[in-house]
Amino acid sequence: MRREEARVDDVGRMAARLRGLTEVELAQVQAELLDVVEYRKSGLSLNSVIGCPLDCGYCVRHVFGNFGMKVPREVVGPEQAVAALTGHRYFRPHLTPVQLMNRATDPMLPVVKPHVFEVLRRLDEQGFTNHVLLITRWRVEEEDCARLNTLRQLRVTLLVTHSGIEDERIEPVDSGVAARSLGLAFGCAERYRVILYWRPIVPGLNDGDRHLERALELSGSAHATVFTGLFFRDEIRNYYRAHGLPEPYEESARRKIFPERLEQRILTAAARAGAGSPLFRKTSCAVAYAHGVADYNGHYGIRELCDICPIEQVTRCANGWQLPDARRVEAMAQELGGRLVAVTERAVVVDGLDEQQRYLMQHTLGFQVHDVAKPHHPHRHGRADLGWPVPVETS
Ligand code: SF4
Repeated sequence: MRREEARVDDVGRMAARLRGLTEVELAQVQAELLDVVEYRKSGLSLNSVIGCPLDCGYCVRHVFGNFGMKVPREVVGPEQAVAALTGHRYFRPHLTPVQLMNRATDPMLPVVKPHVFEVLRRLDEQGFTNHVLLITRWRVEEEDCARLNTLRQLRVTLLVTHSGIEDERIEPVDSGVAARSLGLAFGCAERYRVILYWRPIVPGLNDGDRHLERALELSGSAHATVFTGLFFRDEIRNYYRAHGLPEPYEESARRKIFPERLEQRILTAAARAGAGSPLFRKTSCAVAYAHGVADYNGHYGIRELCDICPIEQVTRCANGWQLPDARRVEAMAQELGGRLVAVTERAVVVDGLDEQQRYLMQHTLGFQVHDVAKPHHPHRHGRADLGWPVPVETS
């Protein structure tokens, strides 16, 4: 057992019961984290618990100034959390994808789990069939799988993060923990689906041939596999510098970094291995495939994304994808306070709408919605420019 696992168990014993934030903690938490529902690309994200003892060096909590908070605390209880989610102005029953506790804790930590299962139970009881995503790198037990199997309405996906990074300063939790969770969850899955979330893949750190072989071997214990890169924002880079960690890139970036050559090596290795579950570049594509439905983010319009997708899934997405009516889109954009710039074969392009408003439109239309000020380069799939050649096309 790595040092980190023992430490997490200590935190579990210290915080056997999930408590609310103390006055002192409340004063230290950024306002953004107290807002428990936020619209992100993969859906409405509910974060009613914050704080995590897992010390992953690349954690997004650096961005919220929350990395120092090791004991998970409830911002609101499960009943209030469900009310905040379903009462959110952008929540649409049976349509809006939902993510639980993906911003500032791990939903499978023993002290967090009871809260998560209570949220799931309440949502399911209300008959919602929305997708619900749970991302974990921690231990999944048989009783957790049994509880997920009792849910009747929600379309639940458990995404198990595996990186294979061996540097304990960056990845304190042994990758064997995720491997065991993945195998167990996949073996028990009846009413939910399991995805191998292979990330972050970082050149020089965990992209050797044996890393690729191991991940591809694990992908056989999942309904689908997503492979992706690293968010290397300023705050994360600063943490690397302060702790003397090797910096994987010279620059930071707004989007995930994933070099083109690395993607090609992974696809070649997967073709050679020939087994395992299908690989996807996008989380929502893997979730959609695992549940046998079309991609809810409308990635089908970005045609080059689909060249690695199983043919039956391409057919599903082709059938579900439709160029939206420009007048309808224009009205939606105006109602949200922005304006329509264009409707192309690839995406709706808008101006003056924030991320949350664009995602609402995207999930409602099942079609990509881009900001005119943040162009997506062809063949780059919304990833950072680092590690890709200078674009020659602009369509
Ligand atoms: S067909 Fe394209 S959009 Fe649909 S799941 Fe596959 S990769 Fe994603």
